[in-house]
Amino acid sequence: MTVIDTHCHLADAKFRDDVENVIARAFDAGVAQIISVGAIGPIENDRVTVEIAERHENIFAAVGVHPHDAKDCTPGRIAQLRALATSKKVVAIGESGLDFHYMHSPPEAQEASLRAHLALSAELDLPIVIHCRDAERRLVEIVRDAGIPPRGGLIHCFTGDADAAREFLALGFCISFSGIITFKNSAPIREAASIVPDDRVMVETDAPYLAPEPYRGKRNEPAYVTRTLEVLANLRHTDTATLGAHIIANAARIFRLP
Ligand SMILES: [Zn+2]
Ligand SMILES: [Zn+2]
Repeated sequence: MTVIDTHCHLADAKFRDDVENVIARAFDAGVAQIISVGAIGPIENDRVTVEIAERHENIFAAVGVHPHDAKDCTPGRIAQLRALATSKKVVAIGESGLDFHYMHSPPEAQEASLRAHLALSAELDLPIVIHCRDAERRLVEIVRDAGIPPRGGLIHCFTGDADAAREFLALGFCISFSGIITFKNSAPIREAASIVPDDRVMVETDAPYLAPEPYRGKRNEPAYVTRTLEVLANLRHTDTATLGAHIIANAARIFRLP
């Protein structure tokens, strides 16, 4: 089995003491590549994210401002992201988007931050990583209005239903599924996971959050993406080798990975 973890947060404080062991376990488990996302908290997390990627040939970085922190997305912060993105290891902008579930930043601030990230993605010719929670309709409206960046992007940790998935696909996005599809109460998300075409599907951990069953509630780590891949392959009536190969090819295309 070979797969990529297209979304995790290796700079998170929960990995501070053992990040190198976490990375080694992932590669031992068959995870060929990892995309580590900064975005949560201060710009320092984006810097550490890029540093970790620069230390490891098969780890890549995304930099951005999480919708939770959208109120901090000033022009100065965008300039800092632009500077960080000069690293060859930065392969995407994000995660940005809308989170109307937690609403840690006002919706106007989230929308302004999303538009700034869409513009930065287009300017830097990088794909965008989108976080969307209970905000599918508004997200589609904003992307329709602003335009999807030329390099496209992905909806990470998809939590909508099949109709929302179809709307995102029509806009040109890839869709990434997390450990949530291993939870019992995820029927609409599982249905969506079965209808995304082979050339648009992705998988991720979102570690250290959202550990898949049977690790639910524990600290998540990139090695566990293999568990989510198994469940995703089952839902799609295929095997992990075939699906893993599709996902590796999709990530290589979208993120321009070697
Ligand atoms: Zn997210
Ligand atoms: Zn995330």
